[in-house]
Amino acid sequence: CFCQLKGSIDECGCSVDTVDHFNNKKIYPRLKSLLQKDYFRFYKVNLKRECPFWADDSRCAMRYCHVEPCLEEDIPPGLKGRHLRELPFEEDMSVKYTESVQAEDCEVDHDDDLGYLNTTISAAAYEEFARWKEHDDALDNFCDINSDDDDAQYVDLSLNPERYTGYKGKSAHRIWNSIYKENCFRPKNSFNSYIASSKLNGMCLEKRVFYRVISGLHASINIHLCSNYLLSEKSTLSFDSVTGQWGPNLEEFLLRFDPRKTEGEGPQWLRNLYFLYLLELRALVKAAPYLEREEYYTGNDQEDEDVRQAVKDILRVVRSFPEHFNESVMFTGGSQARKLKEEFRQHFRNISHIMDCVGCEKCKLWGKLQVHGLGTALKILFSGKFDGVDPTGADLSHMAKSQFQLHRSEIVALLNAFGRLSTSIYEIERFRGMMR
Ligand code: FAD
Repeated sequence: CFCQLKGSIDECGCSVDTVDHFNNKKIYPRLKSLLQKDYFRFYKVNLKRECPFWADDSRCAMRYCHVEPCLEEDIPPGLKGRHLRELPFEEDMSVKYTESVQAEDCEVDHDDDLGYLNTTISAAAYEEFARWKEHDDALDNFCDINSDDDDAQYVDLSLNPERYTGYKGKSAHRIWNSIYKENCFRPKNSFNSYIASSKLNGMCLEKRVFYRVISGLHASINIHLCSNYLLSEKSTLSFDSVTGQWGPNLEEFLLRFDPRKTEGEGPQWLRNLYFLYLLELRALVKAAPYLEREEYYTGNDQEDEDVRQAVKDILRVVRSFPEHFNESVMFTGGSQARKLKEEFRQHFRNISHIMDCVGCEKCKLWGKLQVHGLGTALKILFSGKFDGVDPTGADLSHMAKSQFQLHRSEIVALLNAFGRLSTSIYEIERFRGMMR
């Protein structure tokens, strides 16, 4: 293979060929269809947050990088005002609270003042509970994307595809540099933005994993811009909805991944993409019993039912994959491991904040969504809330006790992020075909 992409994937043991076959034949077509549905198409995100690290010196000047938020009337009715899924396994405190207030309202209470006090105490107790719950949830979070900010708006992902935008140069390099140099674990005396693959083995497993997932995400983003490149701005038969003709650019792909042009690192970066794919695949398996019971409510009964069936079908296929990433070997060994896990979480949270510094709106949208999806996968794998859950979904007793929650935006981000990786692997096959 021109990109020397063969053999087994580091830390996982399964081969590139196995993933190619599994993804391209089974996962990619299913996900492609699922992600076009309303539940997964509309993502709420705040693209207006200030960069917390440096003065934002770049503005989106390119015609292709603008993101158009949805008009109110375009948002499916079921998505408005519902951020948290209704939990079949957990006591829904908001329902409990309304019931208790209503019960008090119905009681014949001669002491009006006392009645008022009871109600406010319940309300205060509920608010206190909600605050603590939010605090507890935040401790499990590996990223801080805050889809519920006041400035957050719904975006229709299908109208804003991830593709070449022309974002490059100083601003883009500053983002990648600060991710790799300041927020990735690094071996001593390593000065490049990337870590040479020969040096990776000197690092501990957790730090290698961190670097590999970031490098895999970087590879995936760059594959998308190569496979959805602006080929011509002139009028042709196959126009996209804005303007210009978009398609794969093999030359650009080789420039970024050919070993001769990347000091031998290109194939390693592609392997990191496969590694990240396996990590998110494992998170899906772990969360499968939970995801299977999600309502996927948008207000359109027929489509919601189709989505529930399609998700079940994908999870069945995902479970059938034979060699999964094994997260249980990570962060083992007492207080050192706990400290390392906290560092891992903080580094990743920083990276989620860096996404606010991306100077191209469309890159920021997809960067945030993919970091959000990866952060959700890390939360599923490492928060401990899913440990011990029966992956077949037959025995739900552990889940019934678990306080684990996923917001709708996390589920949307998780599936879309995995969809991006799946598409990247599919596109690599297309580039191989073009080479032949
Ligand atoms: P860059 O991709 O900027 O990489 C910088 C350096 O990092 C390289 O020189 C190399 O040493 C190293 N490197 C490269 N790949 C890897 C890897 N996989 N692992 C480890 N090290 C690596 N552009 C678009 O056109 N469309 C988009 O949607 C888009 N989204 C983006 C999202 C984010 C969050 C960011 C930060 C950038 C995005 N970009 C996007 C820009 C794009 O990623 C590149 O930065 C840009 O095309 C310039 O590429 P480059 O060749 O200079 O190298």
